[in-house]
Order: sequence, then structure tokens, then C-alpha cells
Amino acid sequence: MQPLRQLDQGLNAYVLSFDETLLKDIRASYLRELGPFWRNPAHQDLLTGGKTIRQPAGSEYYIFSYGDYPLLWFSSHSALSFGLFERFYQALELETLFKPLVDHQAQLVMYCGFFVMGDRAPKPLWHVDYSIGTPAYTLLTPLFELQPEHGQLIYALPDSQDRRVYPYQKGEAIIFGNGFLHSTEPYQSEGKLRVLLSLTFGTDKWQYWDSLKTPITNQSKYYRQPCGHVAGSCACLIRSKLGKLFFNPHKPSRET
Ligand SMILES: [Zn+2]
Repeated sequence: MQPLRQLDQGLNAYVLSFDETLLKDIRASYLRELGPFWRNPAHQDLLTGGKTIRQPAGSEYYIFSYGDYPLLWFSSHSALSFGLFERFYQALELETLFKPLVDHQAQLVMYCGFFVMGDRAPKPLWHVDYSIGTPAYTLLTPLFELQPEHGQLIYALPDSQDRRVYPYQKGEAIIFGNGFLHSTEPYQSEGKLRVLLSLTFGTDKWQYWDSLKTPITNQSKYYRQPCGHVAGSCACLIRSKLGKLFFNPHKPSRET
């Protein structure tokens, strides 16, 4: 297992080296499912931004954008494609590496896997993925080598106006959690797609669902909940809500 290296002092962000051959099956899925998708001229408009996108891409992925910003999240949308990302998550031993950093009950959960795609970034879109105190992380790594014109990741140092660039490297993932302020570095389209692999993971505690559900449901329909089940396949959420109501109505609840 490779060690985690903190990106910069005081930041909730890390880099992790890994053997690039671990991406083989996910690359194959990309080429099989999304190669034909992008060869269809009707889909080129998706890259220009200007509208919120929610639509399937083939049978294995589902596309989300954040408003009109031209960056597309192709969320794994079946047990098959989800499983590819989950095997990568397991191969990186992220659970072992991040358990000490994540408030959890028994285990960590991978929530969803994605391809993050675009060919331009007209302006920075500074944001944090998770609000302070939310025990979850986002991983990003290039699926294919970036082109020279492609934007890298830009991020803010804590309590400072300083901005830094993290250059994506093949065989290296950046993994960041709550409070990490970042954006894609702006760049112009030269017609080549920039394809990153992303996945999200974190706590198995329902008590954090109120702050987790927005980042998770904004970019996927097929995801694992803190209980470890795929959304819509269990009654755990309702049970956790009823548990709060009936077992501890007036005291801070003993969250599980
Ligand atoms: Zn469940």
C-alpha cells in the first residue's frame, strides 16, 4: 500500500500514487460505452455548457452538470459500471488509508464513481465538495493523459489569498475532503476531451446524511447510501428517521 501524502500543510487534501494498470477495466468501459456516445455529432453540444444536463449516456452512465457550467459528470448508473469503480476503490485500499480520517461506525462506503469530462473551462468555479465537518472525500485522477491546453486543478491555501495549481499526473490521485476550496483551472477548447476519473466515499453514519445528500444526489442517481445499500433498495433511511423520532424525541439522539 502506498502512503498518503498531504498536498500542503493544513489542507484536507492528499495525493496517492498507484499502479496505472488498475485503470484498465475502467478505461475499457469508457471506450466501449462512451466512445460511440462521443462519436455521435448530436452529443457535441453537451460540451458547450449553457444548460443544466440530466440525461442517460448509453445504458451504463448518466450525465449531470452543475447548472450551465460546461463540465459533465458521467455517473456510473448500473451495478456493472459501479462495480468497476468499486474495484478500483478497493485496489487503492482507500478504506484502510482513510478510516483514521473519517468518523465512521464500522466501515467506509464508496458512494459513487464518475468520469468528469469537458473540453473547456471559461472561468473558475470555486467551491468545496463538502461542508465543514462532513466526513467524506472526493478522488480525482486522469483517466487518460491530459493535453497541454487542459486546465489543471487550482486550490486555495487555508486562511490565505494564495492559490496553487495541482497538475494532474498519470498514476496519481488527488483526494480531498471538506473545506478544500478548489476549481478547474480555466482553459480554452481545442476540441480534445479532458477525462478524469472520480469517486466519492466516506462515512457509514446516517447522522451526516443531511449534509451528504446534496453533494451525492446532485451528481448521481445510482449511489450507495451510508448503510452500504444502493439508493432505493432498502428502508434504512426511513428507519434511521423513525429511530430519531420514536426513540429519542427530546434528547440529542444516540446516532448510529
Ligand atoms: Zn440501506
